[in-house]
Amino acid sequence: MKIAITWDYELFFGERSGSVEQCMLEPTERLLALADRYKIPFTFFPDTGCLIKFEEQPECHEDLQRVKTQIQTWDGKGHETGLHIHPHWEKSVWKDGHWKHDLAHYKLSDFSGEEASRIVERYAAYMNVLLAHPMQSYRAGGWCAQPFAPVSEAMQKAGIRIDSSVFKGGKNTTKPYRYDYTHVPNVPHWTFTDDPAVLDSEGFFTEIPIASMHYSPLFFWKLFVLGRFNPKQHKPIGNGVPAKGGGSKKDLLTRSHRLCVSADGYFSTQLNRALNKAQRTNAPFMVVIGHPKALTPFGLFTLEAFIAKHHRNHEFVTLSSIL
Ligand SMILES: [Zn+2]
Repeated sequence: MKIAITWDYELFFGERSGSVEQCMLEPTERLLALADRYKIPFTFFPDTGCLIKFEEQPECHEDLQRVKTQIQTWDGKGHETGLHIHPHWEKSVWKDGHWKHDLAHYKLSDFSGEEASRIVERYAAYMNVLLAHPMQSYRAGGWCAQPFAPVSEAMQKAGIRIDSSVFKGGKNTTKPYRYDYTHVPNVPHWTFTDDPAVLDSEGFFTEIPIASMHYSPLFFWKLFVLGRFNPKQHKPIGNGVPAKGGGSKKDLLTRSHRLCVSADGYFSTQLNRALNKAQRTNAPFMVVIGHPKALTPFGLFTLEAFIAKHHRNHEFVTLSSIL
């Protein structure tokens, strides 16, 4: 089985963005060391809007330089880089040493088709100047890849041929999110044109979905309890606050949820269950999502145990090499 572990490389978008050091540089350094130990590649999706905004802000130039160096380091080591767009950065304002985010413009569909296409063009051009290996994959910020039609031409021009924003069964229509992946093709991956959730056999793009599965309320009880009583092991390295939206704590603690297979913190305890399920259903590959900002000491340890256990009998690959 091919296993692609992918990382959305970014700050937080809530009240506090957190520091570049703790949300991006430090946890990613640890991930790159982990990848080196087992000689496996990862796929990173750097939040390009953030970097472009940092260019405009002299106080952020030092962080920006370190981030660029880290991106070029992983690019040089053979990890893949994909296009990740959180377009709200277009409206973000730097005030008193902090970023203020306007989540009324959280997703590309909150902009006109023309504006959204320019964002795709600018962000892709910015990244491809940094990289020795041009990007071919896209992941929408907050999984919000619908509708895709307004940006499909710009994506194609930018060299994008793969999307990995969809996870089967996923749906969130609470502001600022909007996506519905409850009805997707019943195949491992598929081609599409206007909507990554709809198969079009003539489509230019390929959807390689993120794996998903059910998480019981018990899982979230454990997650919240451990976080409270053993913060040293279970507190994320990232020091920001997530954006609101996407289900209440009470909801998570009372009913089962279909969510992404994830390497974030305590979610990593479910990677073996996810792999068993993928093998049972004869899936040819498994895409895992994670966020350096959400890594915890416990999660890193669990992720390493997973990789150590499977790196000989399974093939850890970059996203685009699944095709
Ligand atoms: Zn993101």
